Order: sequence, then C-alpha cells, then structure tokens
Amino acid sequence: MTGIPHDPHKIPVAVLGATGAVGQRFVQLLAEHPWFELSALAASERSAGRPFAEVANWVIPGDPPPWVGQMVVRPLEPDLPARIVFSALPSTVASTVEPAFARAGYAVCSNASAYRQAPDVPLLIPEVNADHVAMIQRQREVEGWPGLIVTSPNCTCTGMALPLKPLDDAFGLRRVFAVSMQAISGAGYPGVASLDILGNVVPYIGGEEEKIEQEARLLLGSMHDGRRVEADLTVSVQANRVPVIDGHTVCLSLGFDQAPAVERAIEVLNEFRGPEVVRTLPSAPERPILVRSEPDRPQPRRDRDAAGGMAITVGRVRPCPLLDLRLVSVSHNTLRGAASGSLLNAELLVATGYVGQ
Ligand code: NAP
Repeated sequence: MTGIPHDPHKIPVAVLGATGAVGQRFVQLLAEHPWFELSALAASERSAGRPFAEVANWVIPGDPPPWVGQMVVRPLEPDLPARIVFSALPSTVASTVEPAFARAGYAVCSNASAYRQAPDVPLLIPEVNADHVAMIQRQREVEGWPGLIVTSPNCTCTGMALPLKPLDDAFGLRRVFAVSMQAISGAGYPGVASLDILGNVVPYIGGEEEKIEQEARLLLGSMHDGRRVEADLTVSVQANRVPVIDGHTVCLSLGFDQAPAVERAIEVLNEFRGPEVVRTLPSAPERPILVRSEPDRPQPRRDRDAAGGMAITVGRVRPCPLLDLRLVSVSHNTLRGAASGSLLNAELLVATGYVGQ
C-alpha cells in the first residue's frame, strides 16, 4: 500500500468535484506540484465515502497515481484539511458550496461560472489581468469572509482573451467576431451523447456565447479605485461543439482603433509575456502565446499540449476584409482553460500575499 506523501513546506490543497473531467486534471497536476500538496478530494454524495479510483471514471491517458486512487472521497463540507480549494463543481452546486468554503476561511479557486461575473470576484488569467486580484480587498470588506473566491474564465474565452490582450494593448481593440469549435471534454463527463456528436457538429452550447462575450469584456477591463471597469468592446460569438476530444479552436476577426499590419501583429503576439510577478510562477509557460506560420496550423490534436497545455497556439494571422485582422487560436480546455489556469491563479494568490506560504 502506497502512503499519501506529506511535505510540511507545501500548502495543503483540496479539489471539489475531483471525480469530473476538470477535477481529474487537478488530481493529475497536483500529484506533482512544487508548492501545493493534494490533501483531500471531495465530490457529490454519490462518491463520498468511497476510494477515488472506484468512483472516478478516469478519462485522462494512464492511471491516477496509486496513492490518489486510494484516497477516500469526502463530502463537500468545509472541514477539509486544506487552505486552498480548487472547485470543479457544476455552477448550480458551486453557487452555495464556494461561499461556504470562503466563509470558513478557504481560498477558493473556481472553474465554475457561478461567480465569474460577480462585481467583487476577480475573473483571472494572470498574464492578462493579474492586477484584478486587488478586487479581493473589496470582496473581503463586502462579504466579511476570512477566505476568498477567485474564478477562471470559460475555457473558450481563455483561448480567445490571451491573444486579444496584447493586440488590444498595442492597437486598441474595438470589435471581435468569434466562431468556436469546442471539444467534447468541455461538456464534462459523460457530457455530450456519442450519437449526437460523432460525425456531426452541434451549433449550440447553452449559455456559452453570452458567457464568452461578457467575460472577454471583464478580462480586458481595467481597475479603478479597487473596482473593475469592463472594456468598451463589442463581441459576437458563435459557439459550436465538434467531435474533438480535447482542445478548443476559435476563429477570430478583429477590428481596432488602428488597423495593424500583419507582420506587426505577429510581432506583438510573439513578444507577449505576462507581468513580472507571473513569469516565475511554477505553472507559467515561458511564452503564453506561440505563433505558427504554417497555413494549416494550429490544430487541436497537434497544438493543444504546447508547453504542457499552458501555451495557446495562434496561426493564420492575416488581413480581414470584414474587420481588420483574422487569426485562429487553439487552447487546451481542461488544462489552460481549467485546471492548469486555476493553479496559476492560486500561485498568483501566493505570490501576491493573499494566501500565506
Ligand atoms: P463534470 O465532468 O460533470 O464533473 C462534475 C463534478 O462535480 C464531479 O466531481 C461530480 O461529482 C460533481 N457533482 C456533480 N453534481 C453534483 C452535485 N449535485 N452535488 C455535488 N457534486 C456534484 O464537469 P467538468 O467538465 O469537470 O466541469 C466542472 C466545472 O468546471 C463546471 O462548472 C464547468 O462549467 C467548469 N469548466 C469545465 C471545463 C471543461 O473543459 N470541462 C473548462 C472550464 C470550466 P460525482 O462524480 O460525485 O457526481
């Protein structure tokens, strides 16, 4: 029997919704994280009280580490031996469970949509808007929680907002037209019925377009007096589910204050780095955006795992006869778009002192 490792120098963390598609990614990543130690797994009453390996239908290649497989899944009560909890719960469940954990003193790093648009909850992609962590001050004043909640964006919005950020900074982004081709794992497990998606494209994902449109404005927004002011940006999204297992593709047409030359836009994308505080975090990729020049890249199967699934890949940067510039972006939805992105948020909380080491 393999024991659960314990390192007193690491911060104990737990995963809520550990048995699902995103929860499993957390388990995989936390099994070897340099700052965080996986100390508890929680899920629904269906799973609570049983070993993780017995209740999680493991959808990632390989197996969970044996010591994790033996961990007994706990109910979603705020009595877990952890300081940070990563939430991979459905939004309806997160809406009550996440504040209960924040009230009990935990730092909640959420992947659910329940609080993404709440006025005092940061919606974070550290390379894009690390300064939005300052919203936590007001969150604490308003809510009186000893803990906190920060959120990660919708997974499609992440792959879109990362290339939009440097282009907005350089050229003043005004209009975005986006068509997404979203992987099946984005719908969780068991997700979309195979008879609906195999050999097919479904041009509707409930609530998705509205979320992506609004979250893009929040992510590119600015901070004034401790409050977030959303960006003045018109966004139109058409979301599609396609028969790809992992990796979301987004085709973008962009309109700017000053239309950029293609070569200059490529330079700006290539040169993009997160702020200083983010660059040395363990989950931060050296380059958050990789630009491919081949005419048939990026592709989800070939590009989603770039930099361990943390870099997004952009290609087909070219002029647009409708707006100013076109490009295609591919990102890993359960890594950069969920678990790894959320780990980077937690690392930012540690680096900025919102979670003590
Ligand atoms: P999932 O595969 O359906 O997993 C859901 C998890 O929540 C499971 O651990 C499940 O536990 C638990 N759960 C379900 N119903 C519950 C209930 N009534 N009470 C308590 N626990 C319950 O979903 P997912 O794809 O991992 O997504 C998790 C969250 O992340 C969602 O809010 C989703 O919108 C968001 N997200 C997903 C992605 C993605 O690419 N999939 C990306 C970004 C964000 P049991 O196994 O015990 O039922």
